Amino acid sequence: MKDRIDTLLENFMTPIVARHRGDVEFIQAVEEVAQDVLTIEKASAEFTGARVLERLCEADRIIDFRITWRDDAGEVQINRGWRVQHTNLLGPYKGGLRWSPTVDLSVLKFLAFEQAFKNALTGLPLGAAKGGADFNTAGRSEAEVERFAAAFMAELAAHIGPDRDVPAGDIGVGDREIGYLFRAWVQHARRWGGAMTGKPLSLGGSPMRAQATGFGLVHFTQAILAENGEELSDKRIAISGRGNVARFAAKKAIHLGARVISLSGRAGTWHAKDGFTVEALEWVVAASGKSAKSPPAGLGLEFLQDNRPWGLEPDIALPCATQNEVEEEDAKALADGGCRYLAEGANMPVTAKAEAHLRRAGVIQAPGKAANAGGVAVSGLEMQQNATYARWSEARLDAALRDIMCDIHGRLKEERANCCTPSGAIDYRRAANVAGYRKLARAVIAGGVI
Ligand code: GLU
Repeated sequence: MKDRIDTLLENFMTPIVARHRGDVEFIQAVEEVAQDVLTIEKASAEFTGARVLERLCEADRIIDFRITWRDDAGEVQINRGWRVQHTNLLGPYKGGLRWSPTVDLSVLKFLAFEQAFKNALTGLPLGAAKGGADFNTAGRSEAEVERFAAAFMAELAAHIGPDRDVPAGDIGVGDREIGYLFRAWVQHARRWGGAMTGKPLSLGGSPMRAQATGFGLVHFTQAILAENGEELSDKRIAISGRGNVARFAAKKAIHLGARVISLSGRAGTWHAKDGFTVEALEWVVAASGKSAKSPPAGLGLEFLQDNRPWGLEPDIALPCATQNEVEEEDAKALADGGCRYLAEGANMPVTAKAEAHLRRAGVIQAPGKAANAGGVAVSGLEMQQNATYARWSEARLDAALRDIMCDIHGRLKEERANCCTPSGAIDYRRAANVAGYRKLARAVIAGGVI
């Protein structure tokens, strides 16, 4: 059986590796899905005949553009921008924009591919896309960010719209950036419409969108714990990152009585031995420059320069920073330190080797496709509100988010028969790939060859 899967995988991956030469993250993401779903595809003459998985691995189109703008010193700056429109099988293209010097086409292709499965799992009518630019907002003035946003949207505007492609934020693109981008789109389109989500509330955004990914991650973690007869309260939780996802995951976990013992940034980790208070959390989120490394006494924090949080012996790990941030050494530290659960707030934060180590150690892992789907789910609800000119209450959205995360857990649980770890627990990674694939495959077949 093992040999058959290896051969199937090799035959499938060889042309993909050749066609997407050098796109390391994209190939990693495809391989992770392919190893879980190829046997399902091969078991169905209909899926095999339609070449479903191969089709799902190619974006519908990729828009690639230059952004030219003038900085505060009067110098001309040149950046590259992209929008990977992966699939609109289930609804308009949907996914965030990432502005970071680390962004390249491989990263965006992998994120758009992952988004297709994630969005399918939400149960909402959402296609999948991802975009961004190799632009760093850090060190840029307000006026520079605004000019860059206007120049970026001058290129992108022709390709998006409420029924066409609806970008949102991601790393480097928050409330402020979306506000500028959205108004630039309105100006180009000469009409108002929900062409972006994650908008500031004052511009037609949705309550709860900022909190959604982090809160949803904690709801999903609670569902996993409940499945295993456990509760969140008093658990020691290590969180990486200090952006929106980390911040609101920490807030929700603290509120539910867990002990959040870390947050992190590029320079190192903030460790709270007895657990973060909300005050300490807000301090870390706002801290910048050198002083960020010297937390004031009284907050119960120490800064661990150049360290990741994975050696702090948590019960639960929530990586919420970026892709491939948990490497094999980190996985060993987590498993040796007694960690039993890991749920991904970031997209693909665990390398393949780390994943294999955690699996062998019996750590239950929830992939980002399921665990961080709360963000895009509330984006879907923002689209519904915009399309009907409605504004839902925070309570309604919070309840809807909790239901969606529980439904996703339920969908993965339904796959249990074929998606089980050696110890009999649900294999959430495999279940997310299989459930997402089934949903997309049915749509591929229903739509014929186009
Ligand atoms: N960037 C987020 C994600 O990775 C949100 C996307 C959206 O809301 O469209 O899912």
